[in-house]
Amino acid sequence: MGFLQGKRILVTGVLSNRSIAYGIAQACRQQGADIALTYVGERFKERVEGFAAELGTDIVLPCDVSEDDQIEQAMALLGERWDGLDGLVHSIGFAPREAIAGNFLDGLSRESFRVAHDISAYSFPALAKAALPLLKGRKSSVLTLTYLGAEKAIPNYNTMGVAKAALEASVRYLAVALGEYGIRANAISAGPIKTLAASGIKDFSTILKFVETHAPLQRNVTIEEVGNVASFLMSELASGITGEITHVDAGFNCIVPGMQE
Ligand code: NAD
Repeated sequence: MGFLQGKRILVTGVLSNRSIAYGIAQACRQQGADIALTYVGERFKERVEGFAAELGTDIVLPCDVSEDDQIEQAMALLGERWDGLDGLVHSIGFAPREAIAGNFLDGLSRESFRVAHDISAYSFPALAKAALPLLKGRKSSVLTLTYLGAEKAIPNYNTMGVAKAALEASVRYLAVALGEYGIRANAISAGPIKTLAASGIKDFSTILKFVETHAPLQRNVTIEEVGNVASFLMSELASGITGEITHVDAGFNCIVPGMQE
């Protein structure tokens, strides 16, 4: 029996079989959880339904987090199928292309800054707030995905790094706000992984190569490795962990690149 047996987990952000959310949903399923998925835009509905079938579920809900109505509607529809929720995974990020390329200031505009923060940061506490009635009374938890660009200036990550810093601060404030209900809030800071979202970042392959060369484990991480840590953090094995940013990055965050050579 897996350590998530009988748990119900909503995983947002599955777009392809390379998505970090896909690795998380698979790992949670392997530990016995029942899964629900969300999608954005009708053209992706069928694709996500296919992933849902693989995961043994038919709960696939539309949820574009830029729309308040869709967030509310997704939780209302979920409530019709499940009387409670044990885990919410936020694996969503977006910034306009010019905001994740080249010089930070060249790509900076009020609109690109707003969009990056709306989709990549605001949506996490917004989803948690909408899901709260379902999360209450169940030793549940919420989890998001962040990146080292929140802590350090990473080439080209730019406005997305600023949005991830807001997201990480949200984890801490959520931990306090949800703590009174016994609900936990955490994040995984994943190392670079080739996904659709990552391919929008200029020269992403250079980052992958650099990590492979310099990280203590001398390689990049996989969506399975992130998924395994996510399944642990969502489970009662992690009942004492909240407000925490856990790095799953082959150790890259702990070194000063270049000083070991
Ligand atoms: P991905 O492209 O597979 O997933 C990104 C998801 O965001 C997609 O499912 C997309 O539909 C969703 N999304 C975008 N706009 C949305 C909106 N308006 N409403 C709802 N969903 C929306 O890429 P991924 O790399 O798996 O990204 C998942 C998360 O992991 C992101 O937050 C990303 O920043 C983070 N992350 C990625 C890496 C990496 O190197 N790939 C590293 C650290 C953190």
